[in-house]
Amino acid sequence: MQAEKNLQIAVVGSGPSGCFLAQALNRKRPDDIITVFDQLAAPYGLIRYGVATDHQQTKAITRQFDRLFAKDNIRFAGNIEIGTEVSIDDLRQNFDVVVLATGRPNARQLEIPGQDLEGVFTSGDIIYSLNSFQGKTDVFSTLGENIVLVGGGNVALDILRFLIKEHTDYDGSDVNDEALRTYLQAPVKTVTILNRSDIDGAKGDAAMLKELGTIEGISFSSNHEPAHDMDPKSPGGRRRGVIEELMATSASSPRVSVNFQFGATPTQFLGDEQLQSVEVLDTTSNELTEIAADSVVTAIGFDADDKSPIYHGHEDLMAVTEDSGRIEPGLYRTGWLKRGAIGTIPANRACALEVANEVLEDIDTNQLPSHNSKLGFDGLKPLLDRDPVSFSQWVAANELEVKLADVNRVRKKFVGQQEILDQIQPINS
Ligand SMILES: Cc1cc2nc3c(=O)[nH]c(=O)nc-3n(C[C@H](O)[C@H](O)[C@H](O)COP(=O)(O)OP(=O)(O)OC[C@H]3O[C@@H](n4cnc5c(N)ncnc54)[C@H](O)[C@@H]3O)c2cc1C
Repeated sequence: MQAEKNLQIAVVGSGPSGCFLAQALNRKRPDDIITVFDQLAAPYGLIRYGVATDHQQTKAITRQFDRLFAKDNIRFAGNIEIGTEVSIDDLRQNFDVVVLATGRPNARQLEIPGQDLEGVFTSGDIIYSLNSFQGKTDVFSTLGENIVLVGGGNVALDILRFLIKEHTDYDGSDVNDEALRTYLQAPVKTVTILNRSDIDGAKGDAAMLKELGTIEGISFSSNHEPAHDMDPKSPGGRRRGVIEELMATSASSPRVSVNFQFGATPTQFLGDEQLQSVEVLDTTSNELTEIAADSVVTAIGFDADDKSPIYHGHEDLMAVTEDSGRIEPGLYRTGWLKRGAIGTIPANRACALEVANEVLEDIDTNQLPSHNSKLGFDGLKPLLDRDPVSFSQWVAANELEVKLADVNRVRKKFVGQQEILDQIQPINS
């Protein structure tokens, strides 16, 4: 009977969603063989490359996934892009269950005039370089003294924290030191944060705002109206409370002045070739103003990589949904690929549990398309011209990163994927 044999399960994407999904299926069906593929040599997706470098406690969630990959029947197959060298059809022929968890990692751009000017950057330009996903550090020497930051969510607050921190504030992080040094040679003096919502509708967590108060030498101001009758425990009330506290405890001779603008949205970026100012609409009064700026960083969310072979040509199938993760019995999706680029790591756990339950239901009710035994990863070997990066190879590269850490850093991350692959070769020989 189908429900009794050991199944071959493929999970595409080793970010938190793919790992939580593998973990949930492994708990219920401990003898099934699970292969977690990733196009990158390193596992863990945006935990490694998105979560801020000074939030190591958030990144520490990977330890529970390390324990998962230590099991004999759970394989990490890194450096294999599904959709090009191995197709989804190939996976379906060789695995009983295929779950897509490839995320939505592309930083959105603002579609307004002037977006292409020099000095206009996205959150990805900053975050992915600080996290050593890419080696581009030029952006850090061109940010200038006066920056406009567009967006009020937690990623915008990660970027604000980076802009106003000093070198010693990075103790215990794994920041890319070349990027940090480049930036700190000429750091910012003023940051204006444009938040389209009013303060009560803003997305940034009060805890993230509060963290800003631990940084020395900053003055804070805001355009929000006081509201005396608000529940201080509501999200808006907490946010107000924190911003008012930040303003009350501001430094008198600040290194950096931070101004929160609520109900403010950019309408165009102005300048010839190089950005000079940002035209801003006050959404309450409908008045336009202009803010002089050396650069703009937009942190307005993330979307699917439209060149991804999983997404490109399948846009309708991969549209955001809160409904089922079942594409058809035997093929599923979870995480940001399913729900869109919203929600923190714990939200992906809840999503993965729901999708795992759909998989288990299809197994238990004999809905999977084929009852024949599947070869799993072995069936793909004729298609591949190299071995994947295994989990033990990744562990060795990871240990090397920790060993190479500079003083006051938890690791020295290899930059990009090739540097990791270059390490893995000597480890093998
Ligand atoms: C800048 C930033 C900061 C964040 N900070 C926090 C935070 O502090 N706390 C928090 O809780 N959440 C944070 N989040 C949210 C969190 O990172 C996401 O909720 C989570 O990573 C989404 O998980 P996922 O597995 O769906 O996608 P991802 O983490 O993006 O993982 C997708 C994986 O799929 C792989 N992949 C893609 N295409 C293929 C393919 N064709 N073949 C094989 N593999 C493929 C990718 O390489 C990647 O490893 C942050 C997000 C961003 C963008």
